[in-house]
Amino acid sequence: MVEIGCLACSKIIKLPQYIDTEKYDGQVVCEECNSLLYIKLVKGKVEKFKIVENKRKPDIKITLGILKSIVFRRSMHRFKMRVKYNL
Ligand SMILES: [Zn+2]
Repeated sequence: MVEIGCLACSKIIKLPQYIDTEKYDGQVVCEECNSLLYIKLVKGKVEKFKIVENKRKPDIKITLGILKSIVFRRSMHRFKMRVKYNL
């Protein structure tokens, strides 16, 4: 059985029964994120694999987490500067 990770969400895509892993050239949809992918399989190996349509929603929590850490680092820097120069 061929296991491939989705290029958009990196979850393992379960290939549908009708797909012949010995010879397949076409599209698959990731069940996790609904992204449309193009895959070419030859003798059970992935020859080509690319995203046709990325339907993955951007992870808002991660984005907010990154923004918060940037703001935190900046305020820490300002705080240190204040201590240093006794402002
Ligand atoms: Zn996916």
